[in-house]
Amino acid sequence: MTRSARATTGPDSPVTRREGAPMELVVDRERCIGAGMCALLAPEVFDQDEADGRVLLLDPAPPATHHPAAREAAHNCPAAAITLRGRVPAPEPDRPSGD
Ligand code: SF4
Repeated sequence: MTRSARATTGPDSPVTRREGAPMELVVDRERCIGAGMCALLAPEVFDQDEADGRVLLLDPAPPATHHPAAREAAHNCPAAAITLRGRVPAPEPDRPSGD
């Protein structure tokens, strides 16, 4: 029997990995609920529209220094309104507590 694993990334995922390609961001303002998490986590990449509070994408192809923040914003968007394509940095490994 063939097992079909459900991918955590793919065309329908908020995060799509294409190694070797530059990071590309797309936002869906229709999905956005104006929570502001993205602007809080990655203010160099996202802002909120003063008129309706919805996301404004400041930089659809941010430099590598902003990739971790952009990735975190995409993962934390409560409306899944941010799509990440291209080179997505690997998540930070969990650190064991030093207690
Ligand atoms: S985190 Fe998501 S819902 Fe909140 S403002 Fe940004 S895109 Fe919109």
